[in-house]
Amino acid sequence: MQDLEQIQQDANALFQSIDNLAELDQAKARFLGKQGVLAAAMRTLGSVPAEERPALGVRINQAKDAVEQALRARREAIQAAQLESQLRAEALDVTLPGRGLGRGGEHPVTRTLERIEGLFHSLGFDVAEGPEIETDFYNFTALNIPQDHPARAMHDTFYVDAAHLLRTHTSPVQIRYMQAHEPPLKVIAPGRVYRCDSDVTHTPMFHQVEGLWVDEQVDFSALKGLLAEFMQRFFEQDDLKVRFRPSFFPFTEPSAEMDIACVICRGAGCRVCSHTGWLEVLGCGMVHPEVFRHVGVDSERYLGFAFGLGVERLAMLRYGVNDLRLFFENDLRFLAQFN
Ligand SMILES: [Zn+2]
Repeated sequence: MQDLEQIQQDANALFQSIDNLAELDQAKARFLGKQGVLAAAMRTLGSVPAEERPALGVRINQAKDAVEQALRARREAIQAAQLESQLRAEALDVTLPGRGLGRGGEHPVTRTLERIEGLFHSLGFDVAEGPEIETDFYNFTALNIPQDHPARAMHDTFYVDAAHLLRTHTSPVQIRYMQAHEPPLKVIAPGRVYRCDSDVTHTPMFHQVEGLWVDEQVDFSALKGLLAEFMQRFFEQDDLKVRFRPSFFPFTEPSAEMDIACVICRGAGCRVCSHTGWLEVLGCGMVHPEVFRHVGVDSERYLGFAFGLGVERLAMLRYGVNDLRLFFENDLRFLAQFN
């Protein structure tokens, strides 16, 4: 009887000293296994006097129950401790500062495009789009640049196949728009254009905005007033001076280049304007009758004006960027300055 009492105490003490389940299982075998001390006690029953056997048997079973209960209690305690430490290890520290998601922003060329669109929209122009892969007809022929025209040499063209090319200007949208709409019409066509060209002032892909204004009564002074107002609003200089110089484009006649007083030095002369005080910003002119003929617009009844401007050029002037290629290198240090 005293031995059984001792076994219970030993088991309890051992269980309490163990803090992992594997060791606890080994300790269990020592007391409750087939070769364990309680099984051994059971085997001694045969050697005790018959009248003592029932009482001793009951006592051994009680000891077994007590050891099992101690084991169960210890197992639960170990499991609870393990769960506790796991929870502690996986806990979120909500006081840690966040990683900080970088805030994106619009590309300066996109900003400039949207600014141009917004200004022309406020001047009554619709916005049209056209495909970047064009046919020879839309990119050249319909714009009065026939097969052997020298102007084709000025457009270093990327050809997709014999019949298709990457548009070299946004002017084809003029043709598509006039095919689909009856005059009078006022529309701009912003978009990407492509030329085999790459240096400080040229990239193989760049953006243009084409403008077209067709009506029965429009004259050059109206075009001049419109473009001057646009430039004044774009550069936020109400007294911005403009001038027009005669030029040549196959799809306009007469043609002109428009200059604005240098927005950097205000006409005094600086490196950006090559000390002339003037900046070339766009080409324009009256729509050539041959272009009207290709789209079935009566050139006796209607007059038209077209203009085209380079978006990167305006973005460089507005933001004071001196290398065109910066716009396309995707250097976040550069781009972040515009956010
Ligand atoms: Zn200047």
